[in-house]
Amino acid sequence: MPKPKVAFYWCASCGGCEEAIIDLNEDTLKITDAVDIVFWPVALDFKYKDVEAMRNNEIAVSFINGAIRNEEQEKIVNILRKKSKLVVAFGSCSHLGGIPGLANLWDKETIFNTVYKKLPSVDNTNNTVPTTLNKVPEGELTLPEFYNTVRTLGQTIDVDYYLPGCPPPPDLIMDAITAILEENLPVKGSVLAPEKCLCDTCPRAENKLEKIVIKEIKRISEIIDDPDKCFLEQGVICLGPVTRSGCGERCINANMPCRGCFGPTKEVMDMGGKMISAIASILGIEGEENTSEEEVEKLMSKVIDPVGTFYRFSLPTSLLMRKRKDKH
Ligand code: SF4
Ligand code: SF4
Ligand code: SF4
Repeated sequence: MPKPKVAFYWCASCGGCEEAIIDLNEDTLKITDAVDIVFWPVALDFKYKDVEAMRNNEIAVSFINGAIRNEEQEKIVNILRKKSKLVVAFGSCSHLGGIPGLANLWDKETIFNTVYKKLPSVDNTNNTVPTTLNKVPEGELTLPEFYNTVRTLGQTIDVDYYLPGCPPPPDLIMDAITAILEENLPVKGSVLAPEKCLCDTCPRAENKLEKIVIKEIKRISEIIDDPDKCFLEQGVICLGPVTRSGCGERCINANMPCRGCFGPTKEVMDMGGKMISAIASILGIEGEENTSEEEVEKLMSKVIDPVGTFYRFSLPTSLLMRKRKDKH
């Protein structure tokens, strides 16, 4: 019996999600035993035309990482959608927009001007920026259109499942592959990770105070961390209350607060908004029952990068999605 065909593809990605597959170590052999990898541009020399020539639904599952930043990525994920029975958005960038999604604070023109003209290390006296069509003596060269707005995979094509994390951890990857091979999957659209929030599984929650009051917001570098204490109790913003569990508390175990790469739990619509609201409810001045608006503003001014703190992985899926183009 022929083995199920599997594809891996990367869009706007750092390559870490591809590394996560390699990090499966000897389990990679179990995968290659069980499936036929028919497309994996980062590792194997298949061509786009090989995929285009396949029958619709011929691929059992395509794992697609990275956000959608340009025309080529959009074209290929649409082809993979047609050729695949299942599409899994693999990792935070594909699931939520991730780090590339933070570029939604700017537009294409600003990004090109900065990257190709203004950076101190750039030597570009002709002010050349990439264009989609270039005529050269040998013929025409084309580049894909760079989009103004970064979108997630689910905002671009129909996605069957989401595998969260930056990158997804090996145990969740193996669980997902096993569930797909055994056809033992939850309802379409599910995130393949536990429903609980990170605080429910965090070792620091054991001694967590019933009522937390933050008198001063601090960065992790400004405290001597007490590993037995919740980060919020120490004034450090930790997105555990609004983030899905399943990562094995990777950052917490490395004495760093959670930044939300697993995305929101089911109940949370907008991670950043929910976390800002949670922080607002526990901010307080010592000895004062009600904290005034000015005092809250002063306390919050310690958050020097609010979008990077509250929407680090989720800006394109937030209610904001991007900064308005007329407000730079
Ligand atoms: S989810 Fe993280 S590891 Fe994966 S491509 Fe995005 S930034 Fe890289
Ligand atoms: S806020 Fe962070 S440190 Fe505190 S219990 Fe939740 S996950 Fe743990
Ligand atoms: S602790 Fe938070 S940011 Fe770190 S891996 Fe887990 S979900 Fe991602």
